[in-house]
Amino acid sequence: MAKKGSRIIIKLSCSQCKEINYTTEKSKKNDPEKIALAKFCARCRKTTEHKEIK
Ligand SMILES: [Zn+2]
Repeated sequence: MAKKGSRIIIKLSCSQCKEINYTTEKSKKNDPEKIALAKFCARCRKTTEHKEIK
């Protein structure tokens, strides 16, 4: 059985080129809002903000 809770898989899309570069998971409880992380984008060749998409 999976752990109790509501951890969901989300995708992280580059805010500049919209490329989906990462997937991660988060807890709906701890992060009810959409998250954004600074990650390296191979397409932009720099670190950009990656935002959660559905
Ligand atoms: Zn990019």
